[in-house]
Amino acid sequence: MGEFELIQKHFLPLARSVSNGSLVMGPGDDCAIQRIPAGRDLVFSIDTMVEGIHFPESYPPEYLGWRALAAATSDLAAMGAEPACFTLALTLPEADDHWLTGFARGLANASHTFRLALAGGDTTRGPLSLSIQVHGTVAEGCGLRRSGARAGDLICVSGTLGDAGAALDYLEEVKPTDDMARVLERYHHPRPRLELGESLFGLATSAIDISDGLMADLGHILEASGAGATIDPTLIPLSPALSRLKGTSAVDYALNAGDDYELCVTIPEALWQGASEAIRNQLTVIGTVNQDAGLHIKDSPGPTDSPGAGFDHFRSKA
Ligand code: ADP
Ligand code: MG
Repeated sequence: MGEFELIQKHFLPLARSVSNGSLVMGPGDDCAIQRIPAGRDLVFSIDTMVEGIHFPESYPPEYLGWRALAAATSDLAAMGAEPACFTLALTLPEADDHWLTGFARGLANASHTFRLALAGGDTTRGPLSLSIQVHGTVAEGCGLRRSGARAGDLICVSGTLGDAGAALDYLEEVKPTDDMARVLERYHHPRPRLELGESLFGLATSAIDISDGLMADLGHILEASGAGATIDPTLIPLSPALSRLKGTSAVDYALNAGDDYELCVTIPEALWQGASEAIRNQLTVIGTVNQDAGLHIKDSPGPTDSPGAGFDHFRSKA
């Protein structure tokens, strides 16, 4: 199977199956064409996943297709953007039809679920890796940034944290228990908080998606905002499965492990009180933004060593 056959068989049908009005021209020409509605800003981001670094070797291709698009789309959710389309740069060691069928199926499911149309891409031969660039739009000037947190704002997170990180301990499990299967599902099929993100304009002063862990990602908000924070670890929402699997260390997964793709946002208290039930139901208050620098964990001494450090490809962890 040649490069063009491969694209035609696996990716063009996918591209034709989701159209959401924003794509004037999809794959097949030198460039794709996206129309930006008047009064909207284009919001875009690219994410790369490399085998052995961002996903294990021999990772099921269907999971990879979903996860790669979900992870990239989560950045749109964190900006409050409405999804539009994406491009895919795929590097493959060989044109393995079985692998490509699975990968395209996972990608198609995510593409439908997140309403993101495949606009084009690039296909090359080499060690397995993929880059996905996602495009979305927000009302002009309304993109949610990391930099707006102010002292007194409440810190809120969506969903439950730590499951995907704990799942890494069970990827090799031949017979996972029900609880292991629950956290593994969070790792394999993350669900970016697109609707929540879009509903936070006018409410959230800052937002980020939790890809590297709560401490690291909240650290990014604090750094960008020139603020500090105190969080109460007993308030962090944990899934029953994670609590059963990890006992008292569940909260460490919630604080430090990544891959959950939940949102962390700051909201002024008065706005939080007036927020709709639908929004309040999706968020849990875990702390408050302070003036003093540093990220403090309630009832633990001093600020944490390195808030905002997170995963760094070019720095070895202490
Ligand atoms: P060019 O040489 O002009 O860069 P390519 O030969 O790389 O074009 O690609 C031809 C067409 O196929 C382009 O429209 C491109 O967007 C599309 N394409 C290539 N790879 C993929 C892919 N993995 N998924 C979707 N479209 C792709
Ligand atoms: Mg060309």
